[in-house]
Amino acid sequence: MKIVRSIEELRQARPDGRIGLVPTMGAFHEGHLSLFRAARGECDVVVVSLFVNPAQFGANEDLERYPRDESRDGKLAEEAGVDVLFVPSAEEMYPDGSGTWVDVGRAGAEGEARPGHFRGVATICLKLFNIVRPQVAYFGQKDAQQAAVVGQLVRDLNLELEVRILPTVRDANGLALSSRNAYLRPAERERALALPRALLKGRNAFLRGSDPVKTVRAELNGLEPDYIELLDVGDARILAAAARVGGTRLIDNIVLEGELK
Ligand code: AMP
Repeated sequence: MKIVRSIEELRQARPDGRIGLVPTMGAFHEGHLSLFRAARGECDVVVVSLFVNPAQFGANEDLERYPRDESRDGKLAEEAGVDVLFVPSAEEMYPDGSGTWVDVGRAGAEGEARPGHFRGVATICLKLFNIVRPQVAYFGQKDAQQAAVVGQLVRDLNLELEVRILPTVRDANGLALSSRNAYLRPAERERALALPRALLKGRNAFLRGSDPVKTVRAELNGLEPDYIELLDVGDARILAAAARVGGTRLIDNIVLEGELK
């Protein structure tokens, strides 16, 4: 696996063939690895970007303490069959004088809860798509609104790119894997299970014909929701929620009907 830090070097390292890109912020877990493996199975060349994108963090968010461990990530990526790990600096991605932003418009309750977040996401994704020029880009259902934003970006700007959305990987108790789970103390990790459990109950309610949002609200077991909403992503209708557990903000979602594409 080649580790590349500059855009110029990446462009020179870009071989022929079907390129799959997996954009990430590092602190790899099985959720990331599932995307790398899918790309490995479907593409000739697998490029993973590892960049903790300052532009998608709000002023009071966790940019400074976001978990970083490049050497561990490098080993895991290599084991998963990644060809190129692109690890640019913030200066490389946003040199002095850069001023163009990509804003896809309304981005659901997650966008409202985190002003500027999806503008940062859309901008970095378009930059990565232009630098890496992949035929396929891989995203996780875990961040469903993010996947919807990227889908909108691709449609609105006529990008020649297939977006693949892969299912959320969970631990044995049902908690969605997330780099931010590292912030949870053991007791908080236990309390956090109320989020996936409430979403499951919400789906059951939906299948019985009752209100899934009300059900999730009633089943959160004391967790404070930022929002609970129904969203359309691809051909799927999903039930999404964000909640705080201590100082940690968690998001999760479940498909109610249809298929994420
Ligand atoms: P991140 O490093 O958190 O920005 O995530 C990089 C990619 O991995 C995004 O497309 C996420 O949606 C995806 N991802 C994160 N957690 C999971 C998970 N538990 N299951 C599947 N994909 C995930």
